[in-house]
Amino acid sequence: MTIEHDISLKKYNTFGIDAQASAFVAIRTEQDLHELFLTGRLRNQPFLVLGGGSNMVFADNYQGLVVHMETKGIKVQGVEGDDILVEAQAGEVWSDFVRHCVDHEWYGAENLSGIPGTVGAAPVQNVGAYGTEAKDIIEVVRAYDVQTSNLRVFSNSECRFGYRNSIFKQELKDRYIVASVIFRLHREYELNLSYKALATAVAMKGYGHPTGRQVAETVTELRNTKLPDPKVIGSAGSFFKNPVVTASQHDDLKRRYPDLVSFVTDDGHYKLAAGWLIEKAGWKGKRLGNAGVYGKQALVLVNCGGCTGKEVVALSKAITADVEARFGVRISPEAIII
Ligand SMILES: Cc1cc2nc3c(=O)[nH]c(=O)nc-3n(C[C@H](O)[C@H](O)[C@H](O)COP(=O)(O)OP(=O)(O)OC[C@H]3O[C@@H](n4cnc5c(N)ncnc54)[C@H](O)[C@@H]3O)c2cc1C
Repeated sequence: MTIEHDISLKKYNTFGIDAQASAFVAIRTEQDLHELFLTGRLRNQPFLVLGGGSNMVFADNYQGLVVHMETKGIKVQGVEGDDILVEAQAGEVWSDFVRHCVDHEWYGAENLSGIPGTVGAAPVQNVGAYGTEAKDIIEVVRAYDVQTSNLRVFSNSECRFGYRNSIFKQELKDRYIVASVIFRLHREYELNLSYKALATAVAMKGYGHPTGRQVAETVTELRNTKLPDPKVIGSAGSFFKNPVVTASQHDDLKRRYPDLVSFVTDDGHYKLAAGWLIEKAGWKGKRLGNAGVYGKQALVLVNCGGCTGKEVVALSKAITADVEARFGVRISPEAIII
């Protein structure tokens, strides 16, 4: 384990922003983590745990230690009837892990194919797509307390998963480093076509009883039509969260904009499609400096070439102010701005 200084983060974030970290350490084994704990640096200096950098925007250079998770390994931990318990190290690339599971006919993760980032970040944000969330397949999360260096094994319920949320983003924010995740997968394929666009795409391909591999491939194809490939166009995926409003605010907007896209929530509020609000405000395909709004999906901000984090923040503020002025609704970033 070696701590380096003044390292460019450009290749470590999917937006491709060229910010510098004043200190940087690659963690390749759990032993590296123990050595890092022994230095005491995580107890008294700012640090940032970084996976694939696919949910982050570096608005500025980072004055602190970036802890880059590069631990690898996928291992079967046990078999319980039809279930199979599989442990993946935090630095495994999420989409490689899902492909590995599909190749080995371990099912449950296929709807989460193609999400960028690492296994270690998946429980933090409770990644989700096409009717499945990481919480549906997570058995336990093994994580180290940065204050005491102790390992804690969090059960699924202890992670307090919610929509794009978990205990690691709330009361234990910046307190634990996820070392590995154990997933409960199935050897028998259970089809999940609860997400309408996926069901339609599968039907259009003429699959009567699709296999897990066919569903994984369909999800990947669907994603490619909507989201930019970070290797080609820099982005952090969906930049804004869908705002939640009261029923009366919703009804008022619906009267003014009959084509408003919204979903009623369990508690009678309404979630508005932030992408619709941004598109309606005329931002789709627009740019400010080198930061732009993706032409195929207004929820995604993109790097138009050499863009800085400050340009992304300026664009997101301009969009937020405009949406608020037009609709009286405040949208906020889903991406983490550092
Ligand atoms: C094109 C595109 C499409 C996307 N589509 C989706 C989608 O469909 N669904 C979805 O949910 N998300 C999506 N995302 C967002 C992103 O892929 C997820 O948030 C992903 O989990 C981030 O993983 P990461 O390793 O890149 O995390 P990073 O961006 O590196 O970090 C994210 C957060 O997790 C913390 N973290 C990372 N690793 C660890 C660790 N080992 N221990 C403790 N904390 C850690 C970081 O400190 C930070 O707070 C998309 C992003 C892009 C660019």
